[in-house]
Amino acid sequence: MLIVRNVIDLRKQVNQWRSQGMRVALVPTMGSLHQGHLSLIDRAKEKADKVVVSLFVNPKQFGPNEDFDAYPRSEDSDSQHLREIQTDMLYAPPASEIYASGHSTSMQVGAIGDLLEGEFRPGFFSGVATVVSKLLLQSQPHLAIFGEKDYQQLQVIKKFVREMDIPVDILGGETIREEDGLALSSRNAFLSPDERLVAPKLFEALQAVSNAAASNLDIDGQIQKSVHQLKDAGFSEIEYLTVRDSKTLLPVQTFDLPCRVLVAAKLGKTRLIDNMAV
Ligand code: AMP
Repeated sequence: MLIVRNVIDLRKQVNQWRSQGMRVALVPTMGSLHQGHLSLIDRAKEKADKVVVSLFVNPKQFGPNEDFDAYPRSEDSDSQHLREIQTDMLYAPPASEIYASGHSTSMQVGAIGDLLEGEFRPGFFSGVATVVSKLLLQSQPHLAIFGEKDYQQLQVIKKFVREMDIPVDILGGETIREEDGLALSSRNAFLSPDERLVAPKLFEALQAVSNAAASNLDIDGQIQKSVHQLKDAGFSEIEYLTVRDSKTLLPVQTFDLPCRVLVAAKLGKTRLIDNMAV
């Protein structure tokens, strides 16, 4: 596996692959890799001849009181995993390769970035869009794959890529879960053993609300009930549990168009997000 740390070497290799007629996929990650990330890489391998995985913990998508410093970092074991599954390239740039001194440009994604995650993490989607657009322009892949686990992020990325005419196909990968339903996440490492037992209740809440929406039952009633159940189980704050249009993420009046249930909640110090199709 090639390990590349700067944009010149990255472009040189990708251009060489492209000139040989190969299709190149990019899978952006913040590392601390788990089976969810690896499933995206598997998908990338099905769709492309060469797979580049990027590893960069992006400071611009963390708020001042968020967990940037505490975010788990494990490049050595990540690169070992990537080698084992025969990834072609790991792109692990230092921060200066993404944000050179004096860097001041950022992407604004409009109203979709102010909803849900954007309401609770102001500036988050601007940070995501800035780093993802840089990674796409630096590596110039044919396609890039992002997880449905971060569903709003996937919709925001599809939208700005389309609106900015960035020549890349954006694909989504399904959420990989533990047997008890908890979506895999690098932040699950922060959960205490007791919290880990409670965490799958989030998945149960999504299922209950999704079933209510699918059968046009009392959705508001079910949301209230599920919020109570989450609080009783030990979640300290339910930031949102809501059914939205699956593309715009705006509130829905009827459930004829494709919809998505999305949730964000705090369990102890850990903030968890998840979502499910209706
Ligand atoms: P992160 O390292 O958290 O930035 O995630 C990198 C990519 O992996 C993003 O596109 C995530 O949506 C995706 N991802 C994270 N967790 C999962 C999961 N459990 N299943 C599938 N994809 C995931």
